Amino acid sequence: MLFAYEPVRKLARVPVDLERALVNARMIYDILDAEPQQGDAPVAEALQVKEGNVLFDRVSFAYAEHMPVLHGVTLEAKAGRTTAIVGPSGAGKSTLFALLQRFHDLDDGKITIDVQDISLVTKHSLRSAIAYVSQHPYLFEGTIRDNIRYGRPDATDAEIDEAARLANAEEFILRQPQGYETLVGESGATLSGGQRQRLSIARAIVRNAPILLLDEATSALDNESEAKVQQALDRVMKTRTTLVIAHRLSTVINADQIIVLEEGRLVEQGTHRTLVRKPHGIYARFYRMQTEKTDDLLEAAPVDSGG
Ligand code: ADP
Ligand code: MG
Repeated sequence: MLFAYEPVRKLARVPVDLERALVNARMIYDILDAEPQQGDAPVAEALQVKEGNVLFDRVSFAYAEHMPVLHGVTLEAKAGRTTAIVGPSGAGKSTLFALLQRFHDLDDGKITIDVQDISLVTKHSLRSAIAYVSQHPYLFEGTIRDNIRYGRPDATDAEIDEAARLANAEEFILRQPQGYETLVGESGATLSGGQRQRLSIARAIVRNAPILLLDEATSALDNESEAKVQQALDRVMKTRTTLVIAHRLSTVINADQIIVLEEGRLVEQGTHRTLVRKPHGIYARFYRMQTEKTDDLLEAAPVDSGG
């Protein structure tokens, strides 16, 4: 197989991997923010983000001994630019995001943000600088307003309304029985995949963090939902350093830089224009295969009734 992308079709039919689901739940802001200051050096200072340049410098990491997941990965995500990360399932893409948020310590190398080593700053300041939009938008028990406010607990109602507008969520929120005060979550209103994604984008907007981590959804939305989600994301990405685990061809093509990761190694790096011209390049071969089939990096999964 040339480029075994995440097998979305199959995934959609099997029960969600519980371990992964828990990792995702853990990566939600309020849980992060509530975590005690464990693991901070006694003299740790707050991260000062001036531009938002992110550098992975020869980063190596293993979850378990003798089973390395990342091998000396070096990549720079430039301030205000979009870096797309592509590669097969298990390549280590999500692990890069986990390490940038300091869920684990590196085995070797370092990660810096504007030259500050992230292992030397407080976790709280590091995570405050990062907004994360998960592949599986998670809704908490509570109102729609509460769910957006998780991005930043001290956000005002006006800021929440504005974030919802920018996320293209306001229209469907106002159509709910109690608008912003409508209960969602297990026992609340049922929202479509596209609507949940837009709430999760609103949460990221309200967080107003200089660094955006985006794990692009693999499930297909209907065209209207898709366009609204994309427009919302474009707004957030514009002014931020964005790292996106990309599943859609349009994201990859529009990125300022593409990183191809395979088995924990950076195997190709460049823009779409440069990578696609490499006669024997992995990305180029993959692109040719995909464009012959469909405009999506992944074949369509069940259609979501967004709105
Ligand atoms: P990707 O996002 O590219 O699919 P991941 O970063 O999720 O890849 O995973 C890279 C490798 O690390 C895989 O082999 C995966 O099974 C393993 N892995 C991921 N998370 C954990 C974890 N919490 N504990 C142990 N192994 C993990
Ligand atoms: Mg992943």
